[in-house]
Amino acid sequence: MPHTEMPSDGAEHRSPASSEAGNTLFIDGAWGPAESGNTRTIRCPADGNAVATVAEGGRTDTERAIAAARRVFDEGTWASGSPWERGDLLLRVSDILVRDRAKFARAESLDTGKRLVESGYDMDDIAACFRYFGKIAGTDPGHVVDTGSPDTISRVSYEPVGVCGLITPWNFPLLQVAWKVAPAIAAGNTFVLKPSELTPSTAVLLMEALTEAGLPAGVGNLVLGPGKETGAVLAEHPDVDLVSFTGGLHTGRTIAAAAAGTVKKVALELGGKNPNVVFADADFDTAVDYALTAIFLHSGQVCSAGARLVVQDELHDALVDEIVRRVELIRLGGPFEEEAETGPLISAEHRSKIEAYVAKAIDEGAVLRTGGRRPESEQFSNGYYYLPTVLDEVRQGSYAVDEESFGPVLTVERFTDEDDAVRIANDTHYGLSAGVFTSDAGKAQRVAGRLRHGTVWINDFHPYLPQAEWGGFKQSGIGRELGPGGLGEYQEAKHIYQNLRPGPQYWFSE
Ligand code: NAD
Repeated sequence: MPHTEMPSDGAEHRSPASSEAGNTLFIDGAWGPAESGNTRTIRCPADGNAVATVAEGGRTDTERAIAAARRVFDEGTWASGSPWERGDLLLRVSDILVRDRAKFARAESLDTGKRLVESGYDMDDIAACFRYFGKIAGTDPGHVVDTGSPDTISRVSYEPVGVCGLITPWNFPLLQVAWKVAPAIAAGNTFVLKPSELTPSTAVLLMEALTEAGLPAGVGNLVLGPGKETGAVLAEHPDVDLVSFTGGLHTGRTIAAAAAGTVKKVALELGGKNPNVVFADADFDTAVDYALTAIFLHSGQVCSAGARLVVQDELHDALVDEIVRRVELIRLGGPFEEEAETGPLISAEHRSKIEAYVAKAIDEGAVLRTGGRRPESEQFSNGYYYLPTVLDEVRQGSYAVDEESFGPVLTVERFTDEDDAVRIANDTHYGLSAGVFTSDAGKAQRVAGRLRHGTVWINDFHPYLPQAEWGGFKQSGIGRELGPGGLGEYQEAKHIYQNLRPGPQYWFSE
C-alpha cells in the first residue's frame, strides 16, 4: 500500500510501492496523484485509526484512464495476443497472491475491519479465482458451424469486448475485483478499475502484482474516488464498451440508466434478501449452526447472507430459541483479536442505516428477540459495532422482509408445507441465493429446483466455486460472474461465414 500512518494494531504497515503518499492512481502504467491533488484518509472501522492515505480521483482522472485503456485496446497487440500468454500471466498473479497472502490479508482487514483469518481465506479464494481464469484462458477458441453445404464454411469465434469499466463494493473488496479483473484479462480486454472509495488498499496492491506479473502498460488502470465522480464516468463514457458493477440495487439502476445512453454492455451483481429455508426434518444442530454463519459472518455484510430464516411451523420455537441463545454468545472484536468471531460494520453511516432498518421493522410489528443496539462495552466505542440481532414474526410484504439490511440482522418467517416454503422463499424482488435444510434428499432437490435464486445451497450455506457461475435472478442482477459464463461476459461472439464458390447470385435481374 503506497502510504500508511497509524496501523490499528501498532505494527508497522508500510507500502511495497515506492510511490509517495497519495500516488495511488495507476494510469497508463504509471502511479500518480489525482489531478486535483485531493487525497482521502482510510480509517479502520474497528477503531477509527487512520490506516492509509490514497489519491481521491475525479472525472478528469477517470477520462485519462479510459483514454489509456482505449488506446491500448485499439492498438490491437494485446487483444489479438496469445490467450495462453494471458493465462500464464494470471497464473503468475495467483502465485504472487499466495506469496504475499499475509500482506494482502492485512491490508484488507485494516480497510474493512474484517477478522484477519477471514481476510486470509478471502486471499485463498482470490488466488484460486486467478488460477481458474488463467487455466481456462484460450481453452475455447470458438466452434465450427455446419452450414449444411459443402460450398460454405462458417465459424464462431470469441473476441474481447473492448474497454471494461469495473466498479466494485467494500464488503469483499479484492474478491469482487478479482471476479472481474481475472476474466477481463483472460479474454484480452483492457480495463479501468474503480474499487469502493472506502476500501481501496488491496486494489492498489493488486495493480502492483499485475505489473510484477508482466501486464503491459495501459491494459489495467486504477482510479480511486467517489462513485458519482469516477464510477459514473465509466458508466456513461462512449469509449467504454462494458460496465461491470457489483454493489447496491439503487446504484445498479443508476449505472444501467447511464450505460443505456451509449448502449454499452452491462453486467450487474446486486443485493439480495436471501431465504434460508429450514424444514422440521432438518438436523437440528446443523440447521442452528448454519443459520448463524449464514447471516452473522462478516456482520451480515455479505450479498448472499441468509438474512431471512424461513422455518417450518412446528420447528419454529425450538429453532429460534436456540439461535437466540447462540447469538448472545457471539464475540465481537477487531481484525487482530483472536477471540473475536465477527467484527464491526464498515462505517458510522452504514450502522445508522441498520439502526433505522431495525426501528422500522419493530414499528411494523417485528418482535425483537435479541440485539437491536450497539454493544455497551467501552472497548467498542471507537468502532462501528452493532450487536447481532434477531427479529421474529416478521410479516410477508413488510419492509424487513423485502429490503436488505446488509448488516447482522436475521428476520424470521414461518411456513406450513413444501409449497408454502417455496412460495414464501420466492416472494421477493431479489433472487441471489437461498439455502434449504432438510434430511429428505428428494424434497431438497424439488425445492431447490423451484427456487428463483441464482445459487441454492442444500444443507450448507455460502460456499461458491470459481468454476461455477455466480449471479442473481430478478433484481439481484444481470449476467454471471465466475465459471465459463463469467468469462463469456467479457467476450463478443463473432460469426464468420465464407462462400467457397463465389459468383453472382442474380437475386436482382441484370
Ligand atoms: P454501492 O452501490 O454504494 O457502491 C458500490 C460501488 O459503486 C462503489 O465503488 C461506489 O463508489 C460506486 N458508485 C456509487 N455510486 C455510483 C454511481 N452513481 N455511478 C457509478 N458508481 C457508483 O454498494 P456498497 O455499499 O459498496 O456495497 C453494498 C452492496 O453491494 C449491497 O447491496 C450488496 O448486496 C451488494 N453486493 C453484491 C454482491 C453480488 O455478488 N451480487 C457482492 C457484494 C456486494
